[in-house]
Amino acid sequence: MRKIVAGNWKMNLNKAEALKLADAIIAENTKEYNAEIIVCPSFPWIPLLADKLNPHGITVGAQNCAAQSSGAYTGEVSAQMIASAGASCVILGHSERRALFGDTDPIILEKCNQAINAGLRVILCCGETLAERENGKVEEVIRRQLEAVVPQIGNSSEGKLVIAYEPVWAIGTGKTASPEEAELVHVFIRELLQEFLGDTVGTNIPILYGGSCNASNAKGLFERKEINGGLIGGASLKAVDFFQIITAC
Ligand code: PEP
Repeated sequence: MRKIVAGNWKMNLNKAEALKLADAIIAENTKEYNAEIIVCPSFPWIPLLADKLNPHGITVGAQNCAAQSSGAYTGEVSAQMIASAGASCVILGHSERRALFGDTDPIILEKCNQAINAGLRVILCCGETLAERENGKVEEVIRRQLEAVVPQIGNSSEGKLVIAYEPVWAIGTGKTASPEEAELVHVFIRELLQEFLGDTVGTNIPILYGGSCNASNAKGLFERKEINGGLIGGASLKAVDFFQIITAC
């Protein structure tokens, strides 16, 4: 399976900074990499970045979408809008959205349905907190988060779903799951996907690792069979660091 490296810029970079980073990404994108490259900026920069990056084979994605299709939902951005702005995927269920913005499993399912109906690929995040890990609840949490969404979107997810395993304790903390720790969970996620969607579909869904992934730890992680790439936060804000991770594929 071709690896995927997706950069989550979060709520960073003004217009000039976003355009500058996009130019630096184009400058670094000098050869064929063994990975699909995805860049997920804030909403306002999606059309600008799609115009710049799509011609270079770099995919642009959003970091969220509305759970509704259109109408009186002040401040929301629909999946259709995101698609028509030039993005082709969206990150959903990120732990920051779950913890800070009330994105529950049922809401995430609605958002996934909206995204897939709009033709977007979904990068669906799951992951346990430190307390959940320490209490031996990793598998229970991951099962709950994925079971709430994956069987429901079912076959419409074929080719439209990417999972990102992001242990919450590793996001933005500098603490990375070891390749062994991450792989154990990736293998469990693979088994769940096969259970929910059958062997063929479940085997072909990429499972990315996210959480303080950087140039020095990426290779060890990406060497593991069930780690099909990375979702990168902080290290995606510098083109050189981002491409060191891409090169690790
Ligand atoms: C993320 O927020 O998706 C993420 C992986 O962040 P970081 O790489 O900064 O830990």
